[in-house]
Amino acid sequence: MFSQSLVSQDTVMDDLQLSQDSFRELWESVVTPSISTIPTVNDVAPDSWRGDGNMGMLLIPDHELAEGFDEKLFELTPELTSNEYVTPPACTVPVTTDHAGDYGFKLRFHKSGTAKSVTSTYSETLNKLYCQLAKTSPIEVLVCAQPPQGAVLRAMAVYKKSEHVAEVVRRCPHHQNEDAAEHRSHLVRVEGSQRAQYFEDSNTKRQSVTVPYEPPQLGSEITTILLSFMCNSSCMGGMNRRPILTILTLETTEGVVLGRRCFEVRVCACPGRDRKTEEENHSKQETGAKRTKKRKTEPAPDSTSLRKIRSASSAEEDDKEMFVLQVRGRERYEMLKKINDGLELLDKESKTKVKPKSELPTPCSGKRLLQRGERSDSE
Ligand SMILES: [Zn+2]
Repeated sequence: MFSQSLVSQDTVMDDLQLSQDSFRELWESVVTPSISTIPTVNDVAPDSWRGDGNMGMLLIPDHELAEGFDEKLFELTPELTSNEYVTPPACTVPVTTDHAGDYGFKLRFHKSGTAKSVTSTYSETLNKLYCQLAKTSPIEVLVCAQPPQGAVLRAMAVYKKSEHVAEVVRRCPHHQNEDAAEHRSHLVRVEGSQRAQYFEDSNTKRQSVTVPYEPPQLGSEITTILLSFMCNSSCMGGMNRRPILTILTLETTEGVVLGRRCFEVRVCACPGRDRKTEEENHSKQETGAKRTKKRKTEPAPDSTSLRKIRSASSAEEDDKEMFVLQVRGRERYEMLKKINDGLELLDKESKTKVKPKSELPTPCSGKRLLQRGERSDSE
């Protein structure tokens, strides 16, 4: 399945074009002839026409013609236009929709919070994993029934945006060069298993890694796999700041997909900070979309600090979490405290009536401002 399901990215458009053209030719060649010119079964070599069940029904035996109009002819026609028949037996782009399947395939991530020291953390709100380069991210796999013997878990990365999706995700030349491993070009790795296998599809050149599915150990309901990502999202010549998705599939030995889960991944220097920033931006966008658009700059989250109880995020899990910031200088502390007090007040107000948040004051001096969209993971 896997090896057939993809078309070489370089030729995707060509193939689509070709398949449409060739289908049109086929359709015209099949449909245009008047009924009297349609060959009878006897006129045609059985293998070339009859061999394919889809074509067979166009060959109307003499006795059926004699009986007149065959209603089944119309019922069967749609099959000819179905994708299975028209396109090559492959998808152009890996599927990135979640599918629990018969085995209730699910993933669960550790709750690592957004502390500065965290090396891997997952955002439920954004369905996004933030991790440091080459650091292990444990991912828990859950199924509700035992998959067939020989089932494997496969991880593959694809670019998230449609304009990049045709390109294969690989490591940047720099990181490849300093790695001696045979699978050095692979971005996604499975750690802690000698049974991990690295694949590159011969048609699409897409890379993936598999590991045999192991049933949970006694007393546990989960199987944990360890993934690591071997480039930063910002790596030049590699991901080059293009967001990626990781697709995890549960497959049979033959490659039949039993379940699929996808999540976004950002590989960066400060996963905790970036997650926090992106979640905050996300919740701001949700509450006051237009307002956020107008604002050109965002305060950079940095290590300047104050004692502050955080409340801005509407991410549910974060709302209950308390954070402590250390701030240098009373003046700055007072300023940040005012912001926080204001936010607290807003929270109280928004609980009683729905009201868009007012403009947040931005720190005016001594702060590095991040341009919206600018990434700071190259630090
Ligand atoms: Zn790299």
